Amino acid sequence: MSSIWSAETKLPEFAPLSGCKTADVAVIGGGAAGILTAYLLGLQGASAVVLEADRILSGATKNTTAKITAQHGLIYSRLIRKFGLDFAQGYAQANRDAIAKYAELVKQNQIGCDFQECAAFCYDRESPEEIERETRDAERLGFSASFTKQTELPFPVAGAVRFGGQARFQPLAFFGALARGLTVFEHTRARSIENGCVMTDRGRVDAPHIVVATHFPFLDRPGYYFVRMYQQRSYVLALENAAELSDVYLDAKDGGLSFRGFRNLLLLGGGGHRCGKFREGCGYAPLRLAAREYYPQSRELFHWSAQDCMTADGVPYAGRYSSALPGVYVATGFQKWGMTGSMAAAMLLSDELCGKASPYAQVFSPQRFFPAACAAGFASNGAHAVAGIAKRVFYLPAGGAEKIGKGRAGVVQDQGEKTGIYRDEQGNVFAVTTKCPHLGCELSWNPDEKSWDCPCHGSRFDFRGNLIDNPAGKGISRKTPEAAEEDAENQSF
Ligand SMILES: Cc1cc2nc3c(=O)[nH]c(=O)nc-3n(C[C@H](O)[C@H](O)[C@H](O)COP(=O)(O)OP(=O)(O)OC[C@H]3O[C@@H](n4cnc5c(N)ncnc54)[C@H](O)[C@@H]3O)c2cc1C
Repeated sequence: MSSIWSAETKLPEFAPLSGCKTADVAVIGGGAAGILTAYLLGLQGASAVVLEADRILSGATKNTTAKITAQHGLIYSRLIRKFGLDFAQGYAQANRDAIAKYAELVKQNQIGCDFQECAAFCYDRESPEEIERETRDAERLGFSASFTKQTELPFPVAGAVRFGGQARFQPLAFFGALARGLTVFEHTRARSIENGCVMTDRGRVDAPHIVVATHFPFLDRPGYYFVRMYQQRSYVLALENAAELSDVYLDAKDGGLSFRGFRNLLLLGGGGHRCGKFREGCGYAPLRLAAREYYPQSRELFHWSAQDCMTADGVPYAGRYSSALPGVYVATGFQKWGMTGSMAAAMLLSDELCGKASPYAQVFSPQRFFPAACAAGFASNGAHAVAGIAKRVFYLPAGGAEKIGKGRAGVVQDQGEKTGIYRDEQGNVFAVTTKCPHLGCELSWNPDEKSWDCPCHGSRFDFRGNLIDNPAGKGISRKTPEAAEEDAENQSF
């Protein structure tokens, strides 16, 4: 199902690239990060061309919950502890400036996008200690932060840290309005970067500066972002007849709930898991349970899900792609905070590319290395990647594909090759290879989205094999259902 933003927004359309174009900057990717970067470059007098593989805003941005806040969970205590006070101060300032920039652009361009100032709360239902510490640290960094137990939530909390001066909006109305004035080529997938040229299937763009804003960076080497990032999925319900909240809320604990209002609706978020690691207790089920418990009169109007890139040290990357790739820049790893994150990245990149030193450059530098902050992230990422590849080797055959019931999926052995089978509600069978074309990891089934997902780096494919999410650059091969009916494994989902 589409998000409420997609359902109500008509976005501008653009023709594909043809032939060779030149620009000061080629921006690859037409999501929040790409559109904002191209727009801010234009304000500084630079010509920018945006290349988008599909339609603009068809990636993570169309499925965000669009809180515009510098309150990213309990981040400030962690940043001070792991990176030091100056780094935390830089991160806080970049995100405060990003909120102010949204307000400025909405006002200057008179964009009708339900932009509303509000407060943001991060709450803990069991213990107040970490909340109290975050409140003190946020105050030290200049936030108007306070500790409270008073919220609009349908349950009591042990404590919540409140930040004033945050905001929320309708993201596609905002980004669509900015995109109208840009030079954009849709249905144009970048395939490589060669000597200052972006090569696509439909032509090329020559530019002295290139920004990769493809969500997960599409070039594996150099840069090696696939070693230092993974993708985390989350799910959202839009409920009517629930509660009209003035402010936005997030549980401080992993796996907790997120709340924001939009007009008369409540957007309830959560159910998160690493992409490719769907398990019981994740997805839409816990959200529907919470909706029934806290808002028994409510009715679900929309549901959707999305994923975002998570870095090893928990801070986004914006800056030079790699020292081995001069003239190429990146904006990624927004940690599910890409509204302020992509604005901060766009301000940083547009300044640097126009010859001005950005005050945020060091904080977001992709070349930064803080061993204490990223050791656990690297170790966990490596373990998941090894498990994703090894799974392919140790899989055992048994049974038949006919065991897979309607609406269910499974993996079968087909003459030594793995095949993913999905049987739809009408009984039609769809068979695909389960080897990810990115780096060869074994895909796993997501029953809530009916997709084949990669646990290593987060590429996703629909049950027909079409590519949904990168870093893979193409779909997985389809197989004939007959071939898959032999020698099925005993695993079905
Ligand atoms: C459920 C959920 C809720 C969230 N809620 C919030 C929130 O409340 N507040 C907040 O701040 N953040 C939130 N986020 C995070 C935020 O939505 C994302 O960080 C942000 O939208 C990412 O924008 P992007 O431009 O990096 O990626 P995308 O929007 O995915 O854009 C990347 C674009 O690049 C294109 N592309 C990919 N490969 C190529 C190629 N080779 N050539 C050309 N184009 C290519 C894609 O088609 C896509 O359109 C949330 C995330 C999730 C998952």
